[in-house]
Amino acid sequence: MERGELLTSLKDIVGEENVLSSEMDLALYGYDASLERGKPDVVVLPGSTEDVSKVVKLAYRAKIPVIGRGSGTNLSGGTVPVKGGIVVHFSHMNRIIEIDIPNRTVTVEPGVITLDLQNTILKKGLQYAPDPASQKVSTLGGNFGENSGGPHCLKYGVTTNHVLGAEVVLFDGTVVWLGGKSPDQASYDITGLLVGSEGTLAIATKIMLKIIPTPEAVKTMLAIYDSIEDAGNTVSAIIAEGIVPATLEMMDNLVLKAVEDSVHAGYPMDAAAVLIIELDGMADGMERQAGKILEICKRHRVRDVRLAKSDAERAELWAGRKGAFGAVARLRPSYLVCDGTVPRTKLPEVLGKVIQIAKKYDLPIGNVFHAGDGNLHPLILFDERNKEELARVHKAATEILQICADVGGTISGEHGIGTEKLKEMSFIFSESDMHFMRDIKSAFDPVGIWNPGKVIPQRQAANA
Ligand SMILES: Cc1cc2nc3c(=O)[nH]c(=O)nc-3n(C[C@H](O)[C@H](O)[C@H](O)COP(=O)(O)OP(=O)(O)OC[C@H]3O[C@@H](n4cnc5c(N)ncnc54)[C@H](O)[C@@H]3O)c2cc1C
Repeated sequence: MERGELLTSLKDIVGEENVLSSEMDLALYGYDASLERGKPDVVVLPGSTEDVSKVVKLAYRAKIPVIGRGSGTNLSGGTVPVKGGIVVHFSHMNRIIEIDIPNRTVTVEPGVITLDLQNTILKKGLQYAPDPASQKVSTLGGNFGENSGGPHCLKYGVTTNHVLGAEVVLFDGTVVWLGGKSPDQASYDITGLLVGSEGTLAIATKIMLKIIPTPEAVKTMLAIYDSIEDAGNTVSAIIAEGIVPATLEMMDNLVLKAVEDSVHAGYPMDAAAVLIIELDGMADGMERQAGKILEICKRHRVRDVRLAKSDAERAELWAGRKGAFGAVARLRPSYLVCDGTVPRTKLPEVLGKVIQIAKKYDLPIGNVFHAGDGNLHPLILFDERNKEELARVHKAATEILQICADVGGTISGEHGIGTEKLKEMSFIFSESDMHFMRDIKSAFDPVGIWNPGKVIPQRQAANA
C-alpha cells in the first residue's frame, strides 16, 4: 500500500488529529527505555476498540506491522518498530471502565497509568498488587504486554496472577473476550498465554484485573549489611523459614550512594547492601513475625535494622527504591539493566560473579533488585556514544545472563525479551522449544503483522 493511501485510510478511521506522521513524530516513537532504535511508518492514537479493530484489519490486508505501545518504558526494545509499521499508542484509551467492588475486579482500557488505577481504588480500601517501580508512568496495557512484576509481587504474584480476562483484537481485526469474572474458566487459558507476549500475538483493548483489600497493617524495615553475601543469605533464610514478606528488595553500595545523593531517603552511604523488608497483613501476629525476621538478620551479621516509624518514613524508604534507576542515571549518561532470575539460594554466588564481570569489563555495575524473587537487575553504567565501551556492555550483559541460566535461572524476570535478549534465548530454550513457540506465533499471526522481530529469534538456516 502506498504511504499516502495508508495515511488517508488511517485518518478516515481515527480522525486526522490522531495520526502522527512527521519526521519528528516518527523519531519520537522510534525508541523506548532500551538501547534499541527503529522508526515506524506512522503512529495512530485510537479512541476505542472499534478504532483498533479497523486499524488492524487494514494492517492485515496490507501486511503492515502493528506495534502496541503504552508509555514505552519497557527495557527490552518491545516497542521499537524494528521493521517499520503502525504504532498503536493507547494514550487516549485510558478510562477505568468499571470498579466492581463485590466481585473485586476492575476493568480498564490499556492506556490507564498503573498508579492512577492504584490511587483511584486505594480511596475505596482496595489495591492492585503488582507495583512496577515505573508505575507512575507505565500503563496497564504495557504491564499486560510484559507480565510486569514489582516489589510486592513476591507475596502477591506478577501481573498474570491478577489478569482475569481481556478483550483482545486478533490479527484480522476480530474482537474477542477471553476469561472473565468467574474465578475458573473453561477451555484453554489464552489470557495466560497473551500476558507477557509483548504484543506479538494480539493486542488488548480492555483488561479485567483482580483487586484485593488493602492490608490491615504494614511494617517496613531497612536491614543494613557490611557484606552483600550476608544480605543475600538473609533473603533465602527468611523464605526458608516459611515467612513470605510482602517485599524483599536489595540495593548495593553503588546504588545506595546514587539514591542518597538524589532522593535523600536516609540510606547509609557506607553499607555494602541494604534490604527493604516489608510485612503486610493482619496486625495480629505481625510483631512476632518481625521479631523472627530480626533474629534471622542478626544470624547473618546485620549491622542494624531500622523500622519505619510512620507512613512518611515508610514512603521515604520506598521513594529511594523506586527512584533508584533514575538516580543511577545521574552517574553516567547511559545504563543497561540486566534482568536475570536465579534460585534465591544462588544470589550470593551470582552477585559475586557480577562483581567479577564488572572488573573484567572495567564497567561500573550497581545492583537494585527484587531479591525475594531472585530477580537480579545489574545496572551497567556507561556512555552510549563510546562505541568500544558499548561493545563491552553488551558482552558483560550477555555473560551475566549466561551465569543466571547456568545456575538454573532464566534470562528475564519481568522486563521481557523484546529485541534485546533474542540471542540469549538459546541459553534456556532448545531449537525445538523455539520451533514450538514459532508455531504458536503463526497460529495467532499468520501473516506476521504483530510486533515483528521480537521475543522469538529467527529460525536458523539449515546449513548455518
Ligand atoms: C525506571 C524504570 C523502572 C522499571 N521498573 C520495573 C519494575 O519494577 N518491574 C517491571 O516489571 N518493569 C519495570 N520497568 C519496565 C517497564 O516499565 C514495564 O515493562 C512496563 O510494564 C511497561 O509499561 P509501558 O506502558 O511503558 O509499556 P510499553 O513499553 O509501551 O510496552 C511494553 C510491551 O507491551 C506491549 N503492549 C503495550 N500495550 C499493549 C496492549 N494493549 N496489548 C498487548 N501488548 C501491549 C508492547 O508492544 C511492548 O511489547 C521499569 C522501567 C523503567 C524505565
